[in-house]
Amino acid sequence: MTAAKLRAITFDLDDTLWDNHGVMERTETGHYVWLDAALADWLEQSGDTPTERFAERFPLAAYQERRLKLAQRHPERRSDFTWLREHALASLLRDYALSEHDAARWAGLGMQRFLELRHDVTPHAEVEAMLETLALRYRLASITNGNVDIARLGWQRHFPIAIAAGELCTPKPDPRPFLTALSRLETQPSETLHVGDSWQEDALPAWRLGMPVAWIASADTGLPTGIHRLSHVRELPELLAWLEKR
Ligand SMILES: [Mg+2]
Repeated sequence: MTAAKLRAITFDLDDTLWDNHGVMERTETGHYVWLDAALADWLEQSGDTPTERFAERFPLAAYQERRLKLAQRHPERRSDFTWLREHALASLLRDYALSEHDAARWAGLGMQRFLELRHDVTPHAEVEAMLETLALRYRLASITNGNVDIARLGWQRHFPIAIAAGELCTPKPDPRPFLTALSRLETQPSETLHVGDSWQEDALPAWRLGMPVAWIASADTGLPTGIHRLSHVRELPELLAWLEKR
């Protein structure tokens, strides 16, 4: 690959700029427990105490199963996790004998709680200062399949261009979110480094478009030219310095 001068960097978010594992576990359990308790209080106050609580009748596994079924019925929505969750919750709540209106309202409240917990992320210590420094030299964009909203994190200053590929229903590895980012960055693939942790969703699709790649991973086996492995995003400035010297 001929080395082109880098002008822009696109970043995956989850498990690239922060460790997402604990966040998803806390969020998944947390919003369901909250919904179960808040709903039980509300039903009690309305003088209507069902024999079984919502989460007893529909444990977390039933909710997960309902999401899978919904994704199979609506393949065009399979990557829009917020939509899938809200519709699965509403459907379970209707099965719990709530009216259409109350089911929709409680599903909405459950999702508000979900999104509060979902945004409780702790970026790696070096990330914000690194992004500020990089922004002086490169145009930056984020491309995520997840449902973190850059504006809700107050991160528009880091990522004036933020692509929510899952909600656009063209999740990575589809090339479209990368192409959208490139078009908005007004850069060529060879001038734009993609940084991400997933081989299938970040490294491969970006590399196939001709973008250089920083792949954050612990394994390092037989990488094609143009894909550079980092064990942590904090090593990015060092890679950039090396790429710029070529
Ligand atoms: Mg990721």
